[in-house]
Amino acid sequence: LLQDHQLHAAELERTFIAIKPDGVQRGLIAEIVSRFERKGFKLVAIKIVVPSKEFAQKHYHDLKERPFFNGLCDFLSSGPVVAMVWEGEGVIKYGRKLIGATDPQKSEPGTIRGDLAVAVGRNIIHGSDGPETAKDEIALWFRPIELVSYTSNAEKWIYEVN
Ligand code: GDP
Ligand code: MG
Repeated sequence: LLQDHQLHAAELERTFIAIKPDGVQRGLIAEIVSRFERKGFKLVAIKIVVPSKEFAQKHYHDLKERPFFNGLCDFLSSGPVVAMVWEGEGVIKYGRKLIGATDPQKSEPGTIRGDLAVAVGRNIIHGSDGPETAKDEIALWFRPIELVSYTSNAEKWIYEVN
């Protein structure tokens, strides 16, 4: 049985998820949101934005030495992106599982990239890869006031509390 303070800690785990321009253009917003929602994770922030190239470079700063960096940043800033923060127990790691491997050719069926994408440079979704990047990416994309803390009515049916 989860104790009260454990549930609180679980609720505080948050990750940054973005539907990239290819996912938006292909009409996959609802499909992707639905997979996180049905799992039992809680949406605490969402907006649609066209990031500037400079912003994309900040978001992907860890990859600046990679040969695909410039094309990647051009692509991320080429159209609307749906930026989200999802909350829940294990959401950072499990969010990556829902997303699947970076290269959709290697993503398992049942994952978002495995089911819905083909090419590594058009893999439709981003998810933070750990607690530090989650924290940094949430702070890059959202102001604190844009994050909404609330109790979901379903919480007692998702977590083992009473
Ligand atoms: P992710 O965390 O699974 O998104 O993967 P990475 O952080 O390693 O890379 C960020 C994004 O860069 C990926 O989602 C891909 O869209 C893109 N990317 C990664 N590796 C390659 C590559 O070898 N070629 C191309 N064209 N794009 C890549
Ligand atoms: Mg990454």
